[in-house]
Amino acid sequence: MSILDDLSKIKENALERISKADSLDLLKDLQVEFLGRKGKITSILKSLKDLPADEKKAVGAEANKTRALLDNLLNEKTEGFSQQKTSSSFDPTLPGTPTQGGVVHIVNQVLTDICDIFHGMGFEIAKGPNVETDYYNFEALNFPPDHPARDMQDTMFVEHDRLLRTHTTPVQSRFLETHKPPIKIITPGICFRNEAISTRSHVAFHQVDGFLVDEGVTLADLKGALVAFCKAFFSEDVKLKFRPSYFPFTEPSAEVDISCFLCKGKGCQICKYAGWLEILGCGMIDPNVLENAGIDSEKYTGYAFGMGVERPALLKYKINDIRLFFNNDTRFLRQFR
Ligand SMILES: [Zn+2]
Repeated sequence: MSILDDLSKIKENALERISKADSLDLLKDLQVEFLGRKGKITSILKSLKDLPADEKKAVGAEANKTRALLDNLLNEKTEGFSQQKTSSSFDPTLPGTPTQGGVVHIVNQVLTDICDIFHGMGFEIAKGPNVETDYYNFEALNFPPDHPARDMQDTMFVEHDRLLRTHTTPVQSRFLETHKPPIKIITPGICFRNEAISTRSHVAFHQVDGFLVDEGVTLADLKGALVAFCKAFFSEDVKLKFRPSYFPFTEPSAEVDISCFLCKGKGCQICKYAGWLEILGCGMIDPNVLENAGIDSEKYTGYAFGMGVERPALLKYKINDIRLFFNNDTRFLRQFR
């Protein structure tokens, strides 16, 4: 049998096996077997030198052609497999990578919860500017210019008589001027006081004030509204304690404590072992405040209450540092999804 016959058999065998090869490893083996340094085609090419001149030419030409053909086929098929391998690394049936969506800030969540409860009791929401005049922030609320109670609120002034509101109560002054009783509103919003920043206090904080003005409004109505709120917001078995207090814009005034909903009044670290938590201030609207707004205080009476938002949020979610609300650390905020 001539070398050309051998070559033809090798070629046939190689073509068949390459066409059937179903893995990159197999293709690599075939490459070595036929075209490697000791491969079958290579051996024939190496043996050319021992052949007579005329045979050398024919066999050489055929062997080179076969080598080129197999080389092409192997490369083509290897490339095909590599592409398949790359594309198979993407599995469209796998679930996608979850993206981190934003969450409503915990302070806004609590603010919304508070507003929802009062809204359910018939209170409408009213808003006012963050930069207030001295008149609406103080004077209309019965804080005359030299009133010592102004010192209770460390005010940040913007210019002469413009200031960052120290409470949301000025919304009451504005609303009373432009509306006639019956009035039943809550005023959620941000307030500012020049206080040292610590775990318990910050220069910015949120407040919700509420006002009701109508004929025949009494302290019992105020108490009823606050008891209903505290039961809805904190827990059904919460108890309330009204302590006499002082605010220039209410008379009489009271601070309201609730029985600690964490220890049920037994005493714990959060309530400082008192069994009670101070949460809001309230009182009957001072007749002067009504008269300032042109409302007949002989005919109408009203109540007002105000509470911070951060403090109930700290208590309800057992957070120990108010600064966390303002740091915008998403690791903290994300917990309240
Ligand atoms: Zn407690």
